[in-house]
Amino acid sequence: MTKPFPQPRNTGQVRPHIVFAGAGHAGLIALAALHQAGSLDADITLVSAGEQAHYSGMVPGWIEGLYAQHDMTIPLAPLAARWGLSLKVATIEGADDIALRTSAGPVPYDLLVINTGADAALPTPLDPATVIPAKPFSKLIAGLSPRLDTAASFAVIGGGVAGVEVALSLATRRPDASVTLVERGGAMAPSLPAGARTRIGQHMRRRSITPLTRATVTGVSDGTLHLEDRHVPADVCLAFTGAAPQAWLAQTPFARHNDGFFAASNSLQSLSHPNVLIAGDAGTRVDDPRPKAGVFSVRTGPLLAKAIRRWSANEPLQNAPLQRNSLILVSTGERSAVGTRNGVVIEGRWVWRWKNHLDRAFVDQFKA
Ligand SMILES: Cc1cc2nc3c(=O)[nH]c(=O)nc-3n(C[C@H](O)[C@H](O)[C@H](O)COP(=O)(O)OP(=O)(O)OC[C@H]3O[C@@H](n4cnc5c(N)ncnc54)[C@H](O)[C@@H]3O)c2cc1C
Repeated sequence: MTKPFPQPRNTGQVRPHIVFAGAGHAGLIALAALHQAGSLDADITLVSAGEQAHYSGMVPGWIEGLYAQHDMTIPLAPLAARWGLSLKVATIEGADDIALRTSAGPVPYDLLVINTGADAALPTPLDPATVIPAKPFSKLIAGLSPRLDTAASFAVIGGGVAGVEVALSLATRRPDASVTLVERGGAMAPSLPAGARTRIGQHMRRRSITPLTRATVTGVSDGTLHLEDRHVPADVCLAFTGAAPQAWLAQTPFARHNDGFFAASNSLQSLSHPNVLIAGDAGTRVDDPRPKAGVFSVRTGPLLAKAIRRWSANEPLQNAPLQRNSLILVSTGERSAVGTRNGVVIEGRWVWRWKNHLDRAFVDQFKA
């Protein structure tokens, strides 16, 4: 679906105002590309809840102790200075047709680019105060840091790829602690091919992780995770249970898909507001959805830059096809990893070195 943009509205500024909501992967890549290409005739503001962006691919390595916190974070102020844009550190609370509503006041826009990611979807009976959610990363880091080396037991809820990788990282760092991985479905990392699952299962056994499948969480209390049929020691309980739409999405007039995320066309435009572009986990491409994963946000970056350039030139937007397959690299501990793409499975220390190179290159491109 391709929709033309309306002419930029007059927000009282000489040049059109492009507002980036959230410093997600796609937005940062698009901003870097726009800066490199130069001569975009617009003022740009980046609104971010924090002064840093985080790179999720390195979180398991940080848990294991292979990376320092600064290795996986991107300070935004130096970027803003280098790219000549305004940085507003504020929490986005909603939006209307002409402005973003933030904790620091309204930010009018001619073009709004939304890249605020997703929240962690907590299992319903859990009190959010008793678990550390996968997102936002600032909360994950703040909640886990003081307990990483002191907790006697960890329970990771959610046996998707992220939960499995985090359980392996915890068990590698803390072989003296008990680590339980709890999954309500019948298998761990079900999105991976059987060969990769088998290898990951071997690593989990080697690291004495207790895997519990078809397990339903009923609550957490006093260092214990309660399941329907048993109780699991859990000084620290982490939830890696998938992505949920952030609350502020409901405080906007922008069309939403039936999953609650913003509904986007294949030209990245909001289905209801053509001058709102949506990238990454915050939206769902309704005609061609992708899993909520950083790799797809990264791939959207160059497409987003192209869309913004066309908007700037008052040209209609084009479809922005997004590749379906992706390389998945799962760190299994002690600088080794399992990888898979198109059904082919690879494993070894060289796979981890490759992952490390890709991850560091992503972060470092913004720190040069
Ligand atoms: C431990 C872990 C490991 C993962 N590993 C991988 C992996 O290896 N590969 C992969 O493809 N995916 C991975 N994922 C998934 C990946 O993290 C997400 O899919 C990805 O980060 C989404 O990118 P995004 O660009 O949409 O937004 P995000 O990277 O989530 O960025 C959103 C930005 O918006 C800001 N923001 C959010 N809300 C507000 C607000 N209200 N106001 C202002 N600013 C706001 C945030 O501070 C953040 O900077 C992992 C997830 C976890 C939890």
